[in-house]
Amino acid sequence: MFCDACGKLITDGTGVGRAILCRNCFPDVTAEIERHREAGKPTDAITIARQIFRETHSVGSYLLPDIPEQLWITAKYKAVDEGLTMRELILKALHEYIAP
Ligand SMILES: [Zn+2]
Repeated sequence: MFCDACGKLITDGTGVGRAILCRNCFPDVTAEIERHREAGKPTDAITIARQIFRETHSVGSYLLPDIPEQLWITAKYKAVDEGLTMRELILKALHEYIAP
């Protein structure tokens, strides 16, 4: 099976609603679901996962393989602490670096 959010082949995904998610995407999708819930928007996991997939694979995307594990883990904790998705955290970091 494939992760609905990143499209990668997975062997032990987690089901959230009708979505199947890899371990990497699970926190991103659940954080996005929570943000939708707080905003009063629909919280369908499969819709949110597919939206993340489209955002990742649309024009302006850049796949960055082999991110150092500890850096990625630290970034994920920071994203959770700040209530951001990983996408938002990365874009924020990039923006602050390029145009502080
Ligand atoms: Zn995934």
